[in-house]
This record gives sequence, C-alpha cells and structure tokens, in this order.
Amino acid sequence: GALPPRSRVDRLVSEAYERYASVDDGAVADYIPVLAAADASHFGLSVVSVGGSLHEAGDVDIPFSIQSISKAFVFALVCEELGHEAVHERVGVNNTGLAFNSLIAMELNGGSPMNPMVNAGAIATTALVGASSAEERWARVQRGLSRFAGRELSLDEDVYLSESRTNLRNRAIGKLLQSYGRLDPDPLETVDVYTRQCSLAVTAHDLAVMGATLADGGVNPVTGEQVVSAEVCRDTLAVLASCGMYERSGEWLFEIGLPAKSGVSGGIVAVAPGKGAVGAYSPRLDTAGNSVRGQRACAHLSRSLGLNLFASV
Ligand code: GLU
Repeated sequence: GALPPRSRVDRLVSEAYERYASVDDGAVADYIPVLAAADASHFGLSVVSVGGSLHEAGDVDIPFSIQSISKAFVFALVCEELGHEAVHERVGVNNTGLAFNSLIAMELNGGSPMNPMVNAGAIATTALVGASSAEERWARVQRGLSRFAGRELSLDEDVYLSESRTNLRNRAIGKLLQSYGRLDPDPLETVDVYTRQCSLAVTAHDLAVMGATLADGGVNPVTGEQVVSAEVCRDTLAVLASCGMYERSGEWLFEIGLPAKSGVSGGIVAVAPGKGAVGAYSPRLDTAGNSVRGQRACAHLSRSLGLNLFASV
C-alpha cells in the first residue's frame, strides 16, 4: 500500500515535530571540530512519497554536512556500476558490532572492510568508483549524489577543511586497507575523496528526496530521473537494515522496522520501500552517533504511518 492520505501525513509530521522539538538529550559531535559549532536547536522533518508529495515541518532547509549518510548512496552507485557479487565479495555486508571508525573490526576479520556503512568499508567502496584519477572519482561521486537529491550538491568547505586536518584514523584505515591489498587507488587520495563526500551539504528535505529515490526503485520522484536500478535499491536497503544505524542497527530495526542511515552531523534518512522516505535533522546524538530527536521522530512516524516492514497488520 501507499502512504495514508496527504492531510493525515501532514498532520502526523507536524505532530512528530511538536512532540520531540523540546527533547534535548544527547550531545553534538565534536571529534570533527567544526561540528561542535552546530546549532543544537535545529530540528527538521521531511517526508517525501514515491509520488513526489512533500510533508515537512521545522528546519527542513538548513544545510548540514551529509557525513555517513553519503555511504548509502555511494554504495548504490558502486552497486550499479559493478553489480551485486563484486561488492559482496570486495566490501562485505555483515555488521561489525563495533564503532564506525574501528580498525579492530578489520584486524579481527582478516582485513575485510566488513560492510560499506562503516568507515573502512565506505573508503573501500569509494575506491571502487570507476575513475582514472581522484579528481574524476570525486566528480563522479558528487554528480551521483546530486542525481539522488535532484539538485546540485556542493561541498561545505569548512567541514571539509576541519575534517581533513583531523582525520588521522581514516588515513590509518586507508593504509590498513592498502596493507591487506583491499585498496587499489592511492589510500590517502581515496580518503580525501571520502572526506569530501562526507562534507557535501544537504538539508532534511534533500535526505527525504534521496531516500524516496531508493524507495521508488531508483527513480527520483521529484525529477523523474532513473538514478540506479530497482535491484540496486533492494541491495542498498538490505545493507542499511543490517548496518545503517551504527551499533544500534539491531535496536533500530526492532523498534522502527525500516532501513535507515544516520550521520554524525545529525541527519537520518529512513526508507519505506514502495512508499517514501523520512529525512530528519537534529544535531544532538546518542552515544552511537544517531540523532536523538531524529530517532524519536522516525519511531513516531513509522508507527503512525504504518511503515514497519515487519508488521503484518
Ligand atoms: N566523515 C565522518 C568520519 O569519517 C563520518 C562519520 C559518520 O557520520 O558516521 O568520521
């Protein structure tokens, strides 16, 4: 089935916004110095249906860096290019149960990057974007993510510089991948492309459109463009279900029942296949890195809109 009638979705989105706008649990990320300066009062909720209808409340046009949410869409682009088997074999699809920037996960698993939603797997995935130089690889990533959003996304230079100065762990991950023969292009150049992809500026509205494209078999419901195939959407959503919400992916699926991806700047995209997607933004995070208000709002919307994938009634 589809989403409930328009006026009801509008009302439920406003209700979720009102209900959680006053929650101030959690803390803004500060391991990337510039993120600590985010305005923690911001809260935006956007729902986009596969038919392209919009339902929004709050700060849906405030830009923030996409961070780890980029991993979902770069993975989809690479699946489109290389196919199901190649990404399964080269990157993997199992949750690590460890923090997103873990090196131990790789060490414990014979150098496997494990899955495309942790930093090791995301860096390995970015390396698979077909290009003859880092510049070309970046251009393809930027163009691809822009097609999901239906508008040209640009770099937040402050975030890019702040993260570039402080991303020693990611550089270590790049080198470790190289030591295991898991990274063909130059590791530091690849980490730089990855850092740029994480620094693309998006809004809660953009996240909902990007997610709705995955919900809609790869067709962007606003532009009508086929960005990736329906099979790629299926594969991407499967990985989001098991690995999209850091070490809380199991709890998220248990409570909310939707494939989703979050990022440390406070964004969440949750996808209801065949129906639409929720884009949420609020910078205060739980200890795993998931936006607190965003999670609560997604739980409310999943319940009230009947989106839980596992619910038979
Ligand atoms: N660019 C961030 C990093 O690599 C992304 C982290 C995240 O959003 O999970 O540390």
